[in-house]
Amino acid sequence: MEILSSVDLVKKYGFKFTKSLGQNFLTDDSVLDAIVEGAEVDKDDFVIEIGPGVGVLTCRLINKAKSVCAIELDDKLIPILEQELGSCENFELIHGDALKVNFKEIIGDEQSVKVVANLPYYVTTPIISRFLTEGYNFKSLTIMIQKEVAERINGVPRTKAYGALSVFAQYYCDTSIVKRVPAGCFIPQPKVDSIVIKLDKLEKPKVEVDDEKFFFKVVKQAFQMRRKTLWNCMKVLGLEKERLIEAFEEANIDMKRRGETLSIEEFATLANCIYKKTKL
Ligand code: SAM
Repeated sequence: MEILSSVDLVKKYGFKFTKSLGQNFLTDDSVLDAIVEGAEVDKDDFVIEIGPGVGVLTCRLINKAKSVCAIELDDKLIPILEQELGSCENFELIHGDALKVNFKEIIGDEQSVKVVANLPYYVTTPIISRFLTEGYNFKSLTIMIQKEVAERINGVPRTKAYGALSVFAQYYCDTSIVKRVPAGCFIPQPKVDSIVIKLDKLEKPKVEVDDEKFFFKVVKQAFQMRRKTLWNCMKVLGLEKERLIEAFEEANIDMKRRGETLSIEEFATLANCIYKKTKL
């Protein structure tokens, strides 16, 4: 199966872009190939694509995967996708909103599910959050997103990029940067550069925590006031001073450190020690 380039398809159908839908179509073949390669799509895979646009990435996925299910919101793109790709037996198109569709139903009993997408930027965080927290059976997300967000997801301690989003993503997944993509690779050109990032879902979260909600509360608190010591950040959790001191001692973490220096393992230890004190 072959398809024209985005530029030619846009011309062929006289397609008019809708800015509010984050429509920046990929024009660079090497980037499209890198996404499919980075996602390691093969003949056993059921691929979910969010936002197929005029279908340039979709076509490559159809050629590699067992089957592809693409979810597109824009009414204007549905007839184009049906015309260009509708004859492929391993392709299903859902006209809907990826923020609302029932992924459990879409995935059904598929065993090797990979999500691949050049995401409209406004859905990045909710889509990642849906896949990481709603318990779907999937192996990986390979997604093109805004550069700064990708760097935060992939951030490591003691760097500016490291924050609550890094800990959140890396609690559930191994993360890696697949490719940096300049704004010139899209029509129309976005204002920012992008990165293709891969999130490989872990079989179980990276660290054991007594209470997930409390763990993320501690992490959020630690980064809410980045320049403050952990002591100042954790004080506001409302634990008695003596108990909080004991928790830091038991966790063997210096309360004068800043949150941005803690690894995920250290965050888990600290959160568990504080949590135990709240239960006394
Ligand atoms: N995959 C194409 C490519 O790489 O050239 C298009 C990517 S473009 C960045 C994002 C696509 O997502 C557009 O086709 C847009 O209409 C679609 N889209 C926007 N919001 C959506 C939503 N909530 N659910 C599904 N698709 C959406």
